Amino acid sequence: MSAPKAIAMISGGLDSTLALALVKRQGIEVKAVNFYTGLCITETQRRKGGRPDGTIPRNEALRAASDLEVEIEYVDVSDQGYLELIVNPRHGYGSNANPCVDCRIFMMRKAREIMEREGASFVFTGEVVGQRPKSQRRDTMRAVERESGLEGRLVRPLSALLLAPSIPEKEGILDRSRLLGISGRSRQPQIRLARELGIEDWPQPAGGCCYLTDEAFSRKFFDILDAREEAGEERRILREDLVLLSTGRHFRLSPRVKMIVGRSEGENGVLDAYAGGRARLLARDLNGPVALVEGTATWEERQLAARIVARYGKGKDLPEVAIDWIEDGVPETLLVPPETDEARIEAMRI
Ligand code: SF4
Repeated sequence: MSAPKAIAMISGGLDSTLALALVKRQGIEVKAVNFYTGLCITETQRRKGGRPDGTIPRNEALRAASDLEVEIEYVDVSDQGYLELIVNPRHGYGSNANPCVDCRIFMMRKAREIMEREGASFVFTGEVVGQRPKSQRRDTMRAVERESGLEGRLVRPLSALLLAPSIPEKEGILDRSRLLGISGRSRQPQIRLARELGIEDWPQPAGGCCYLTDEAFSRKFFDILDAREEAGEERRILREDLVLLSTGRHFRLSPRVKMIVGRSEGENGVLDAYAGGRARLLARDLNGPVALVEGTATWEERQLAARIVARYGKGKDLPEVAIDWIEDGVPETLLVPPETDEARIEAMRI
């Protein structure tokens, strides 16, 4: 008879790695899944060529699966309804733009589909009761389980003893006595367990991997939604928005016009790649940022945008800088003094 099978939802953080190890050591065949939403900070940095300090983050989920010798499926959900969900979350947002409850339900539904396809008996996660303010409260965890269609088949091995026995525990597939009853925000029980299980490698610091929990990102996220709504457009987020929202400094010049200014060579390259349908600005004959302007800018807004580009380039102390404004392939040169009014710049910053 073949070994029972389970689907592990892993991020590669310490908790999901421990959950993986706990289930695997019960002789259960485990297939790991990792969902890419387009909003994972480290994965986005990895794809853009590294962190601001030049280091390249690892994909921790792939690393954890490899360390524990488990098959992993990497699923890009950014075009599978995830972007609609983050604009209209039924359970609302957390403290920033993070719709964690809806996000968990969405991912667990995807995991359930994989469980059914793979003929697995259950899905498990590294969630710990009481570790996160809303999404890991006991009542929320129950609601997520119910709404994802995984009722009875969603196991949290680290907190299982604090929750009702799951179907695989009742059926004897999983030995409940070898699961744990960890709760709360302290990391000490997990660190002790990692030592016991011989797990030495996990990302530091834990968590913080999602742009939607980031305050600055969330401001830009809601700004774009509000601007579209005000312009009579659909309140929605596109895949290219995800790239641009995590790139550069963002300025709102007017309700209709927004500007993004690159902060590094890598970001300038990203902005170059997304110039289609936008005006692209850069200083002529001087090093400096690439900037994109979205929306139909007035003459004053074009001047202002050019002055901001001059301000962030090598010519910031010159009396005038030539800025190329390239729109629909047509270049035009604006000769402007760099913007010196820092308070004005800050006031436009999103
Ligand atoms: S932090 Fe981000 S990825 Fe994690 S549950 Fe919340 S919205 Fe989803």
